[in-house]
Amino acid sequence: MTDFPDGMVWLVGAGPGDPELLTRKAERLIRTATVVFYDALVGPEVLSCATPTARLVHVGKRSGRHSKDQKTIDRLIVEAALAGERVVRLKGGDPSIFGRATEELAACRALGVAVAVCPGVTAASAAAAGLGRSLTLRGLARKLVFVTAHARAGEALDLDWKSLADPEATLAVYMGKAAATDVSRNLIAAGLAADTPVVLVENASLPTEQHFQTRLDLLPLAARTALGDGPALLLIGQAMRETAVLECFPGETLQHLAI
Ligand code: SAH
Repeated sequence: MTDFPDGMVWLVGAGPGDPELLTRKAERLIRTATVVFYDALVGPEVLSCATPTARLVHVGKRSGRHSKDQKTIDRLIVEAALAGERVVRLKGGDPSIFGRATEELAACRALGVAVAVCPGVTAASAAAAGLGRSLTLRGLARKLVFVTAHARAGEALDLDWKSLADPEATLAVYMGKAAATDVSRNLIAAGLAADTPVVLVENASLPTEQHFQTRLDLLPLAARTALGDGPALLLIGQAMRETAVLECFPGETLQHLAI
């Protein structure tokens, strides 16, 4: 394979969970790898694309349960490549969104290891698709912000709440469920309306996908009581109004849709 010689590393996006959301390129790279280092959120069906002789190494991290720290992962990847393996580093969603891709790219480049990135479908896209809604909304949600509400252990969330509290933005909050109370309180304090629509989406794209519709001031309660403990995303903003689709043609007739 010309784009995957021995001794190379590919950072590959595995998508949000549904194996059909894997790109064809990702599937080919996984099939070609001699070793696959994969995250906690990568499912068995995606891993089954690998050849039976490939080594599958779990290096997953889920908050509170770090099995390998980032430096160890960087070292494992580089060592495998220097030993002449074709290395896939498989990450949930898109590797460049809250995926520590920069550290791994830097580690490879520092030691002269060829490295490239294969993008994936990010969780926010899958969550919106599952809801049957759009993340942006003409005239109402002109801005889409991907933000993580994950603080370093022992540190407070340090986000620019003033700029996040934008009524024309859709916020896709990754790793946000544990910090839901902080997110709600700070956004309201920064001026975002208490009744701003919020949807919690868990396990987007998987058969276990669940949604919970709420509003910003009720989010802390919802995050504590609704849904399970799968990966979950908060989508916040007017585009998440249940009626957003119905309101799409305000004051217009629907004649242009008539067949
Ligand atoms: N690189 C990934 C994000 C990694 S951060 C991406 O592009 O999607 C991990 C966080 O992503 C989780 O805590 C959760 O907030 C979100 N996430 C990942 N997969 C998800 C899924 N299937 N459903 C809902 N949220 C998901």
